Amino acid sequence: MKRILIIEDEPDLRALVEFNLRTSGYSPVGTDNANDALMLVNDAQFDLILLDLMLPGLQGDQFLKIIRGMDRVSDTPVMIVSAKDSERDIIAGLDAGADDYLTKPFSIKVLLAKTAALLRRATSVGRENDAHAGISVNSETHRASVDGRDIQLAAKEFDLLQLFVRNPEKVFTRNQLLNTIWGYEADIFTRTVDAHISSLRKKLGKKGQLIRSVPKIGYRMEV
Ligand code: CA
Repeated sequence: MKRILIIEDEPDLRALVEFNLRTSGYSPVGTDNANDALMLVNDAQFDLILLDLMLPGLQGDQFLKIIRGMDRVSDTPVMIVSAKDSERDIIAGLDAGADDYLTKPFSIKVLLAKTAALLRRATSVGRENDAHAGISVNSETHRASVDGRDIQLAAKEFDLLQLFVRNPEKVFTRNQLLNTIWGYEADIFTRTVDAHISSLRKKLGKKGQLIRSVPKIGYRMEV
């Protein structure tokens, strides 16, 4: 059963979301603050985190930055669920590493649909897409291959490729790629991303064309 962590300080809303997730076959765990949530993600594995931004104590965006640097949780999908609904807030949330952003008030049906989509993407881990694209990435052996032939990648190139293969069609901003691959503290410019993408494309040969530029925004992997 998929475990979902709900970080929401409004008790009625938290109860409503918990109830609906439970009746949809998930195993939800609710908390009203992000400090407790940090302990929860330290103790147990979650398949998805629903994150309010305006919270007592540690704020949602700070929580997101912290967990994106934690080995165990860095890959866990996070959906921000917030009353902050400006374009700037949404882009900032996605740039900070959220996988999706839902503004309040929201429809429970939409929340459930987005939940299902995020869990599906996280569990498919691109296996089918690997087969389609002929690109294979093994995170245990840290080896990558194209059409069955091993290719030699630098560590950051490998991380980039893995991210694309696991999230086909997802658009990543340059800032997202910087944050995800290089980390928040890195003193690196966005052209570093472009340089690594260019090198990765060359190493992928013809399949390099699958990494598409999205004008003014960033990159995505076509399937
Ligand atoms: Ca709140």
